[in-house]
Amino acid sequence: MNILYKSTRNNDEKITASQAIIKGIAKDGGLYVPTDFPKIDKSIDELCNMNYQELALYIMKKFFDDYTEEELEECVYSAYDQKFEDENIVPIKKENGAYFMELCHGPTLAFKDVALSILPHLLKVACKKNNLNKEVVILTATSGDTGKAALEGFANVKGTKIVVFYPEGGVSEIQKAQMVTQQGENTFVVGIKGNFDDAQTGVKEILNDSEFNKKLNDNGFVFSSANSINVGRLIPQVVYYVYSYLKLIKNNEIKKGEYINVVVPTGNFGNILAANYAEKMGIPINKFICASNPNNVLADFMSTGIYNTKRKFLKTISPSMDILVSSNLERLLYEISGRSEDIVKELMNKLKNNGEYEINSDMKKYMEKFYGNYASDEETVESIKKVYKESKYLIDTHTAVGICVYEKYKRETGDNTKTIIASTASPFKFVRSVANGIGLEEENSNDFKLVKEVSKVTGIKIPIGIKELDSRKVLHKNKCNTSGMKNIIEKFLKIGE
Ligand SMILES: *Cc1c(COP(=O)(O)O)cnc(C)c1O
Repeated sequence: MNILYKSTRNNDEKITASQAIIKGIAKDGGLYVPTDFPKIDKSIDELCNMNYQELALYIMKKFFDDYTEEELEECVYSAYDQKFEDENIVPIKKENGAYFMELCHGPTLAFKDVALSILPHLLKVACKKNNLNKEVVILTATSGDTGKAALEGFANVKGTKIVVFYPEGGVSEIQKAQMVTQQGENTFVVGIKGNFDDAQTGVKEILNDSEFNKKLNDNGFVFSSANSINVGRLIPQVVYYVYSYLKLIKNNEIKKGEYINVVVPTGNFGNILAANYAEKMGIPINKFICASNPNNVLADFMSTGIYNTKRKFLKTISPSMDILVSSNLERLLYEISGRSEDIVKELMNKLKNNGEYEINSDMKKYMEKFYGNYASDEETVESIKKVYKESKYLIDTHTAVGICVYEKYKRETGDNTKTIIASTASPFKFVRSVANGIGLEEENSNDFKLVKEVSKVTGIKIPIGIKELDSRKVLHKNKCNTSGMKNIIEKFLKIGE
């Protein structure tokens, strides 16, 4: 079976995986999806004996089938090495009656490392395969975590430049420090006067601006994206759901073929969509539990079938999920509409013009596999406190949103299916609220001091990624309005003068 990629919004063009990775987003504004879902075709016993890298290779070869085995091997082993502080890459811990899939042991302490440490390698190979002799400019909007993970992944990668836009005042002190101290001649970090949605919309518009793209092309550049709209980010995330499922079998926690639930703290819908793709490959998943913070557009969508962005954008203590327009939901809409480009196009037009849409009854039927709810900031801190008190297990604010919603789900349904919770960031990354949760005095203390205090009190060692972060030099001081994004890109690339 050959897997190609096509837009969610039309049927004309089918391209290879490497081409889709270069392009990032389709010309019509749609997202690339695989023409087919490959199935897991090895025995469970065989798969259980694979380590993370071997399994990653097996799964990615199925989705990225125009890459050779050797090319993918090079990508996988360059990405998943000692920069992850755990040799399992994604360890799974049984705590508090659930299984925590710890996605936060990469260099920037958030789950995005898992995909963004491999994307630059996939892209480099893709350029070579397609004889692209232009420099690739990665444009990224970030709510805090993608930006740093992308910078870390792309810094000093030959033939690439990376531009990151983050919302000024919309990220944590630690997140900001991580980004503005980024080294690497090819890196460029800009604070946007606006929120994440403003940054993301701005980036998407630039990626689709044909005139601007032509100008760049004439100057030897081509745009790509490191946001989860890129299939080169989405597919590597499928791996850890399969890996964790196999780990549970191997550890005799579940039987072969047993159904599990997954709980995913959700923002742009990339991570939970990857779980959905894992199911399409053959992993038995009972419920996809989608956890939101008070920006609860998705929670409402799951219960009503109406996606309505006409509401206030709220700043919360789980900032990586402060999003109203979840890009990757478009890929799910495509699947649940029976792969209908027309329906997706219509819904996306409604979203653009009216700020809302409603799915039809057939689509709602499919959504029964999903459960959505949300946690307030108070509930989030309460969850951190409760889990720490009961199990001495320290979780970050995003993971805490997940647990809180999981508890609500259990209360409502009584379902006791074994459940994997995606642990998406290290508690040290969002240390202020975490310190609050475990009863540490937080006034008069900056985040860097708090990191040391939390480490002292809990006995958990400070991850390498943020050690001595406060003494690093600030290298990026650029700021702009959303209307000035193109301008500042030109400045960085030294074109159009
Ligand atoms: C990005 C992020 C999320 C949201 O993931 P999506 O794939 O955008 O839904 C959740 N938690 C953390 C810590 C993140 O960085």
